[in-house]
Amino acid sequence: MKITEYIQRANKTLFSFEILPPLKGQSLQDMLAGIEPLMEFDPPFVDVTYHREEYIYKQHPGGLLQKISTKKRPGTVGICAALMNRFHVEPVPHLLCGGFSKEETENALIDLEFIGVQNVLALRGDADKSEGRFIAEKDGHAYASELVKQIINMNKGIYLHDETESGFQTNFCVGVAGYPEKHFEAPSLSYDLKYLQAKIQAGASYVVTQMFFDNQKYFDYVKRIREAGYDIPVIPGLKPITTLSQIVNLPRTFFLDLPDALMIELEKCKSNAAVKEVGIEWAIHQSKELVKAGVPSLHYYTMSKAESTYKIAKEVF
Ligand code: FAD
Repeated sequence: MKITEYIQRANKTLFSFEILPPLKGQSLQDMLAGIEPLMEFDPPFVDVTYHREEYIYKQHPGGLLQKISTKKRPGTVGICAALMNRFHVEPVPHLLCGGFSKEETENALIDLEFIGVQNVLALRGDADKSEGRFIAEKDGHAYASELVKQIINMNKGIYLHDETESGFQTNFCVGVAGYPEKHFEAPSLSYDLKYLQAKIQAGASYVVTQMFFDNQKYFDYVKRIREAGYDIPVIPGLKPITTLSQIVNLPRTFFLDLPDALMIELEKCKSNAAVKEVGIEWAIHQSKELVKAGVPSLHYYTMSKAESTYKIAKEVF
């Protein structure tokens, strides 16, 4: 079923979360067993991130370095099938523009359709680590709005080449990313919102936000979307802080602020265990306020680790 249908039918805030595919060489079954406790809270859907290729350098005798392209977390499609089989939840694979030609995107969507996936989150992706800025593939998409258009075209039975036996219409519900504190490349929030609107106009049915730690930023963001005339669901993304290093790394990586009240508590922490407790308490406080405001779903960034999210959900749902 489509995410938007789950939201329409629910008379309460839903629980959902995001996982990462395991690192290559690690067991999927172990990872699934790790997130199993979260099924107690009946998530209708679980997002699965996509990780594009990275470059590693192999040293050969004589010192010669060979640059090798590798995917450290492959298997997004396989995990979607595993989630459906094992937990009977809707998997939401993330699809990127980065690293994909339009042809590869079309084929990936056909694979997803064949295994019964009905929802996808359409994203541009970040720059390749060896490049300073995002560069689209030759014959790939430069922006998420273009990817949304391609998916919606397939929903209309329009494929890339006229030679394709046309007619079969996919039926994907498409979500897109939103940034309450603006995307880091956008010069202003208004500018970024203009391109969020482009994604909605291209056919996106719902938005999932980047993590935020100050609910007011989410409320203001949703207000701006509503004022622009769009009433689609805006699902808040929440991340329980779990380690001392995240105090520096989250703002640096995701271009967001940690509120003063949260920082006062975090600065008292001497260990990861103490940070984890503060992170859980803060997320419970955020979650309860968001539920009160009637948000469609609380979407947790779990990093495939259930412990903090379980404790939060136990208090909130
Ligand atoms: P876009 O919507 O294309 O926007 C990118 C930038 O370009 C923005 O600054 C926007 O304002 C601007 N822009 C958009 N359209 C135009 C235009 N036509 N002309 C000029 N400027 C324009 N990354 C991964 O690699 N894998 C994942 O699984 C993943 N999951 C994510 C899930 C969520 C909920 C979120 C919020 C992010 C996720 N990301 C993931 C990160 C995401 O790929 C990056 O933030 C990326 O830099 C932007 O992706 P986007 O889809 O928001 O891009």
